[in-house]
Amino acid sequence: MSDRDSNGDKDIQFQLKAVLRCSSSLDAVSASEFEEFLRDCSREGGILRRGAPPGGGAELLRWGISGSDLSLELRSDRFVRAHDALIRLKKELGRFLARYRIGIRGVEIESYKIAMDWEWSPRLRLKRLPFVREQKQDEGRLTLYLDVDYAALERRIPDRLLRLLDEKRSAASWRGKSEHWELLFESGKKRFLFDKDPTEEMLKRNWISHAAGRGQWIYGPQLTRLFRTFEHILIEEVLKPLGYVEMIFPKLVPWEVWKRSGHAKGIYPEVYYVCAPKTRDPEYWEEVMDYYKVTNEVPLDMIMERIEPVGGLCYAQCPPFWIFLMGKTLPDSILPIRVFDRSGTSHRYESGGLHGIERLDEFHRVEIVWIGTRSEVISHANELRERYRRIFDEILDIEWREAWVTPWFMAQEGKLGLAELKEVGTVDFEAVLPYSGKWLEFQNVSVNGDKYPKGFSVKLQSGKELWSGCSGVGLERWAAVLLAQKGLEPENWSEKLRQLTGELPEVFRFL
Ligand code: ATP
Ligand code: ZN
Ligand code: MG
Repeated sequence: MSDRDSNGDKDIQFQLKAVLRCSSSLDAVSASEFEEFLRDCSREGGILRRGAPPGGGAELLRWGISGSDLSLELRSDRFVRAHDALIRLKKELGRFLARYRIGIRGVEIESYKIAMDWEWSPRLRLKRLPFVREQKQDEGRLTLYLDVDYAALERRIPDRLLRLLDEKRSAASWRGKSEHWELLFESGKKRFLFDKDPTEEMLKRNWISHAAGRGQWIYGPQLTRLFRTFEHILIEEVLKPLGYVEMIFPKLVPWEVWKRSGHAKGIYPEVYYVCAPKTRDPEYWEEVMDYYKVTNEVPLDMIMERIEPVGGLCYAQCPPFWIFLMGKTLPDSILPIRVFDRSGTSHRYESGGLHGIERLDEFHRVEIVWIGTRSEVISHANELRERYRRIFDEILDIEWREAWVTPWFMAQEGKLGLAELKEVGTVDFEAVLPYSGKWLEFQNVSVNGDKYPKGFSVKLQSGKELWSGCSGVGLERWAAVLLAQKGLEPENWSEKLRQLTGELPEVFRFL
């Protein structure tokens, strides 16, 4: 959605008071010359109206001179927003005053008010918005009193604020609707051989144990063998035949990456933050060490003062990979690019949603990334899905379904059109857990369009559109699904799977 589109059909009014501070007294310019200049700016087709339909644009309500200050009051519609008008006017005025050897030293914003139509909805409770001193909501109107300086206007803060309001509005109408989930495929029925919660059963058999952290497990030899077998299957059945090669993606993700991937817009409630010490000087940390030594307690407050958040732990796995390609131009002949990563853990703060090995704060995932032209990327997603299906049907021998889910960012970025075409978006693979009757997403296949190449400035030599896709295979989720449907006895697993796992290692016994 471009800045221009927001509030397209809504009535909106901008009212801006500013003072332009000049380098010397404006008395040198005669009142009539000033008037003529400003009249010229305000006429149809003048800089205050350029680009607006007849009668539209910005208008100068008042102006006045006092010494070296020129004060202005502008009012506008959505066609030439008042801050755009001010920016244009400052430029033009700079040229005009140059003739009198007068410069513009600075611009002070006295007030900026934006009022628009606003339907109240119980789903849309507005929090205090950034750069807004006061906001009033009554009788179908929302009025924002902005707290901005001229630099903020140049940074297009008001445009971004309006876009943010649009996003909030569409988020409110999106929530609670079910259209974003659509069944695409259902596997054949399979016989379920287990009806218990596999996590409970694994705990009983000491296959796993709670780790010290929340949503974190220590996986014993048996389940680890199963995870490694899943990776082996994935590599042999999908990745090798499709020409994938392995890479190692970073697992500590600096803000820079999430700013470019778009995650910085909303990741905050779910991310595990990473902090660096403000200095590694032991003296700076001495009080912390001393406190611990005399209390045996880690002094969190004292630590908080001495650290700085630098980013977070791996959340979606592929974003930090893109730094590898950032700012590069690729020869068309190297496409398609197909790489995968299985080099570390992913972390999410799942809060109350934690459950068994199904929903964790620390989990293991293989992330698959493919890059190519638009049609390559779309057709490759289908090839992947075909290969995955063979694994689930023949090797894991499970019952599953595939659903089209429109990711929220598509709606936010006004790309619902693309999602409706089913070109950009996500297919979730879900399986039923017999013990609870609930469906669990165990992996996804996403076509991300040009989101990542754009965000990380990666181009093709030919100038053709570069697209990408990714697929996250959750090892705990594959295990949760297999074990919930088939149980923990390898004799109930498919012949092929049993062959690949071999005999499960038994190492520990407890008294
Ligand atoms: P859910 O809706 O179950 O929270 P998600 O939509 O957040 O899943 P994605 O962001 O699509 O998941 O992540 C891709 C894959 O990563 C999932 O299909 C799953 O295999 C795995 N995954 C995501 N979150 C977790 C978690 N908390 N615990 C274990 N695996 C996870
Ligand atoms: Zn990804
Ligand atoms: Mg989730």
